[in-house]
Amino acid sequence: MIPYGRQDISESDIEAVVDVLRSDFLTQGPVVPAFEKAVLEYCHAKFAVAVNSATSALHIACMSLGVGTNDIVWTSPISFVASSNCALYCGATVDFVDIDPLTYNMSVDALSDKLQKAEKVGMLPKVVIPVHLCGQSSQMKEIYELSKKYGFKIIEDASHAIGGKYMGEYIGNCKFSDITVFSFHPVKIITTGEGGMCLTNDPQIALWLSRFRSHGIVRHTSEMTKLPDGPWYYEQIGLGYNYRMTDIQAALGLSQMKRLTEFVEARHKIADYYNNKLTEEWILKPWQHPDTYSALHLYVIRIKEGNSIVGHLQMFEKLRSAGILVNLHYIPIYRQPYYQRMGYKKKDFPNAEAYYKEAISIPMYSSLNTEQQDFIIERINSPMGFQNLF
Ligand SMILES: *Cc1c(COP(=O)(O)O)cnc(C)c1O
Repeated sequence: MIPYGRQDISESDIEAVVDVLRSDFLTQGPVVPAFEKAVLEYCHAKFAVAVNSATSALHIACMSLGVGTNDIVWTSPISFVASSNCALYCGATVDFVDIDPLTYNMSVDALSDKLQKAEKVGMLPKVVIPVHLCGQSSQMKEIYELSKKYGFKIIEDASHAIGGKYMGEYIGNCKFSDITVFSFHPVKIITTGEGGMCLTNDPQIALWLSRFRSHGIVRHTSEMTKLPDGPWYYEQIGLGYNYRMTDIQAALGLSQMKRLTEFVEARHKIADYYNNKLTEEWILKPWQHPDTYSALHLYVIRIKEGNSIVGHLQMFEKLRSAGILVNLHYIPIYRQPYYQRMGYKKKDFPNAEAYYKEAISIPMYSSLNTEQQDFIIERINSPMGFQNLF
């Protein structure tokens, strides 16, 4: 079986985790801040708050930007449900902006049109969450310019994208956003088992992120509403959660950070090989915007609709039956039954619909070898030439 993605764990990763297990602190010790610092130094942002998942990170990111019941949040429909659930957790209303037909990220043209219409009816979003699908940055400069014109905040859902670059600089520097979120789930670029992180350059947002991570509690006198009753004293000044990352997880993350550059380079070699060998004209390969250097979390091909060789479902089944565990990232979020109740219309998202009819994520992870890739490529290029194994 060849999965579509998997973690890459070294002996030194294992040792780093074991060291924490032998130490005094399993959580709230020194390793979480050390991991945060390593990511900050890599990405060139000012503040980082590590949490137990990117879902939690997106939630506290929305909270820190003040998203509440009367607010509207927009994101891309081609994403994991967490990109929009975070706004629903805050009681806000969610809407989607159709994707760009080339990058599959939120379309800047569609965003611009939708903003114009929303302004007329007084329904502008408070926050827009572009998603860097497959590890390729969205067009952040253009989105940032629109944010200045229409007055919304930006959270980059960079769950796929640590180690990628936009305009020559690492994603996560928050140059064109208020907050950037990373995921450290095992299928992503680096892992902590489960984990996520918020990055920001705004000290006030950073304060709220760290408070919401841990119940809304503060421990520094300067943040309290009154002088402490005694040395035991702390104050809860907001309603937060327990979204803390453990030192065990952070140790794995800190160790994985040392290999981040190498991981992304390995993914680029794998993508180059696919790019050269997937030659059939009915296969659409991923397109990279010249402003981006993708982290290549996913390699998505499209089986062109109406071609005479193979259908989308048929290709999917052929590959699965050959032990190649392809996937589809993603079912448009508005198609989920939970979201359908809110009344979204498929016809409002023609590019997302077309993508959903054609996309397949084929295996992409740093330890995928050439032999495995040849096996995969052979089966994609001539899907009818093989017997089903299962
Ligand atoms: C994986 C993922 C998330 C959620 O990450 P977790 O760490 O599993 O909570 C959010 N958004 C996108 C785009 C993702 O791929």
